[in-house]
Amino acid sequence: MRYSQMFIPTVKEVPSDAEIISHKLMIRAGLIRKVASGTYTYLPLGWRSLRKTIEIVREEINKSGAQEILVPSLQPLELWERTGRSVDYGPTIFSFEDRHGKGNVLSPTAEEVVTYLAAGEIKSYKQLPVNFYQISAKFRDEFRPRFGPVRSREFIMKDAYSFDANLQGLDKSYKKMYDAYCRIFKRCGLEYVIVQAEVGEMGGSGSHQFTIPCESGEDTIVYTEDGSYAANLERAAVDPLPKQKTEDRRQKTEEVHTPNIGSIEAVCSFLKTQPEQMIKTLIYSTEGETLTAIIRGDHDVNEEKLRLAIGGKHIELADEKTIEKVTGAKVGFAGPMGLENKVSKMIIDHAVAAMAVGVTGANKTDYHVKNVIPGRDFPLEGENTYHGLPARDTTARMAVVRIADIRYATEGDTHNGKKLLFKKGIEVGQVFKLGTKYSEKLGAKFLDETGQEKPCIMGCYGIGINRILASAIEISNDDNGIIWPISIAPFEVLVTAVNQDEPEVAKTAENIYQKLLNSGIDVLLDDRDLRGGVKFKDADLIGIPIRVTVGKKSVAQGNVEIKLRTESRGQTVSIEKAADETIELVNSLKEKLKV
Ligand code: ATP
Ligand code: MG
Repeated sequence: MRYSQMFIPTVKEVPSDAEIISHKLMIRAGLIRKVASGTYTYLPLGWRSLRKTIEIVREEINKSGAQEILVPSLQPLELWERTGRSVDYGPTIFSFEDRHGKGNVLSPTAEEVVTYLAAGEIKSYKQLPVNFYQISAKFRDEFRPRFGPVRSREFIMKDAYSFDANLQGLDKSYKKMYDAYCRIFKRCGLEYVIVQAEVGEMGGSGSHQFTIPCESGEDTIVYTEDGSYAANLERAAVDPLPKQKTEDRRQKTEEVHTPNIGSIEAVCSFLKTQPEQMIKTLIYSTEGETLTAIIRGDHDVNEEKLRLAIGGKHIELADEKTIEKVTGAKVGFAGPMGLENKVSKMIIDHAVAAMAVGVTGANKTDYHVKNVIPGRDFPLEGENTYHGLPARDTTARMAVVRIADIRYATEGDTHNGKKLLFKKGIEVGQVFKLGTKYSEKLGAKFLDETGQEKPCIMGCYGIGINRILASAIEISNDDNGIIWPISIAPFEVLVTAVNQDEPEVAKTAENIYQKLLNSGIDVLLDDRDLRGGVKFKDADLIGIPIRVTVGKKSVAQGNVEIKLRTESRGQTVSIEKAADETIELVNSLKEKLKV
């Protein structure tokens, strides 16, 4: 391609909503333009890179044995109602009524539709295993679309769905996808970290995320230095803390007046205590019941862990009215004492169970309680019992009381005795062992060898194509622009004719360009009638990995310069050898990304 005939609108200025470097550079290098919040047009350079990424993904997923299909993005709401995800997916799902009053969904993912396909087609174990995948637009009404293609409302996803006859089969299908993902990210030039992840509203039994470590990432990777453990923050399990030495257990609890002082910070400064000496009480609603989570003042409840601690039920923070009804006090004064008779479940974090003594809300507006001893003043475990004895009031219904890990890991926590470290990352892909949630609800069943009907065992596997591009730029750039990995660069080589108006220069550049083209190199010729300085600036900005510079002076000496985008100086080679040397360099860069 010739630069003079390509639409590459590079710009200096970026809109103020471009917060991270990849978003800024994608606009500046003329890869994308915004249409509206979270929707982008991919311009010729951007689309070339995106297509190359798609092709790598397609090749590797094909190698794994999965088969490409295309399901509609416009899907009947009814299928989503049958799995319950029209509700569970929450407001992120785009749904609307058509002119006939039928509900529709713009696909955020496609478990329902692909399982519906399997339900109609799969009859026998002989058709299993099978893995269907597609590469198509997905739609999510993200609460906060931002960071350009990293979190947009329409994006391209590779999504695959495996169907197996048994759990061993699922393990194999899962491993094939997991391995394909490793190959894909390596080929895309991305250094990735694989972390254990939670399954969330997907449902299922196990999951891994593929994450690109970088400062702007919205995910937190929690890991141990020796690499023996890596999980995302939603999942990262922490060791119980050592039990604090018990202070004087004879000290009685003491109510203190704390007028209008409800927040942890306010109580701490008023009572001259520290957040880690406070016991926080949160009230949740879960399927018509109330649940209370008890954690230390300086910790945060991990709702995914809390959800799993009560058997995977849907939970949400209770509204003000419920909180007031349960605690008998205004919001801000809840405490664990006596709540075991008022809620149906009470889950206490390990860190609270390890406390010797703490301060907590008094379940009485404007009051807190000091000298509260966990296990003495409120139970740490039990079911219709109190301190191992029958409930004092036998008519009162006691909560199920349990200690569990229900908080986010923090600095200083350990896992299996090893210190946990934290870093930020962008999730580019995720694999899930789904089990039978979707196949049961949508009737994807098969007859096994003995003629018995069984639900297919499923896995699902997603990769965000646009995020691959954005994170490649995020981790590889400098003050002048993008530094593409060769595999997903819009072009492999840029031939820059510094003085296009000099016939010798133009001719030499053209010859090298033609030779490269004929050798199958993806090459762009900068043949614009512009100053060299402008061309070099654009070259650095759009980040093509290899530049062949053809200038008046060097051509007069029979030479050109070959330079890598990663290096500040190039090397001089003779005009005759230029094309061959460039091809060798292309091959050596490609070699590094081979799998
Ligand atoms: P996140 O937690 O970042 O919202 P997710 O876990 O909901 O993502 P999945 O349902 O696992 O996403 O989708 C598979 C892949 O699709 C993700 O790994 C990610 O690469 C990509 N993806 C998800 N949401 C978006 C989005 N809003 N914009 C661009 N890519 C996305
Ligand atoms: Mg995910």
